[in-house]
Amino acid sequence: MPKRKNRPHGHYCKICGEYKANEKFSGKGHAAHICKSCSRLSAAEKAAAMDINRMMNLPMRRLSDNEKKWLENKMHDKRLEVADMAREIYGAHFPYAERNAMKKQLMINTLSFEVHTEVYDGYGDMEPADRQFMLGRKSRVLSMTDFHADSMEQSITLESGQMAKLVRYIVHTLEVFMWGQNYSLMTDEDTFSDDFLAGEIFDGFEPGENGVFQEKEPEGRPSWRVRVEYTNHTTQDMSSYDDYLPERPEELYFCLLEYFETEEE
Ligand SMILES: [Zn+2]
Repeated sequence: MPKRKNRPHGHYCKICGEYKANEKFSGKGHAAHICKSCSRLSAAEKAAAMDINRMMNLPMRRLSDNEKKWLENKMHDKRLEVADMAREIYGAHFPYAERNAMKKQLMINTLSFEVHTEVYDGYGDMEPADRQFMLGRKSRVLSMTDFHADSMEQSITLESGQMAKLVRYIVHTLEVFMWGQNYSLMTDEDTFSDDFLAGEIFDGFEPGENGVFQEKEPEGRPSWRVRVEYTNHTTQDMSSYDDYLPERPEELYFCLLEYFETEEE
């Protein structure tokens, strides 16, 4: 016997998107492509179910402009279940979209960046990095305390353009708001070995269990810590107890340090 293609049996319901046996449809429902159980839904429920059904059936290929626009509109839908599903589907299609949307929203008010470790000095030698930087966007003041040199706090006032450029760089290029996910350590020491944690840090963007990263319980002071307060009143406070600076925090360290090195000349 020739093989037949596997076709769904029954009749299609346009609300729930399922193929159901004919007896699951009334005469009228048959023609309208609405099964008996869906026909009992209110008009609003029907509309929501149809939207969700359409989202679930969006192709995994690149979406057309119309599909994308439709999905973007649904993300702002008043019906929460529709909006939630739209965001989830959108996130799967456009993994960077969410991050880019955050960049547009986030503006730094204040930032504190503390480092107590060692860094490469550019000649292949390690030098102690034991400083705290504080930045205030509105005051335009950038200050630095060098704990190692036991020196006084130094501070400079940037021009507004310089400050705007700096805070933009920290959000848009260094993506400081992602550091918690990228670099922070999880606490569950029984479950995760140090090697696993190290891998987790470099692997980057995967959130931990339940998407929650927690700080490792402090033993001594952190090797680095960043605290940011954003204009939308969200705050970020994260510490690392690893004895090195990952790439982006290191970039921030040298970037901020540069302001004081040129100042001294
Ligand atoms: Zn149905």
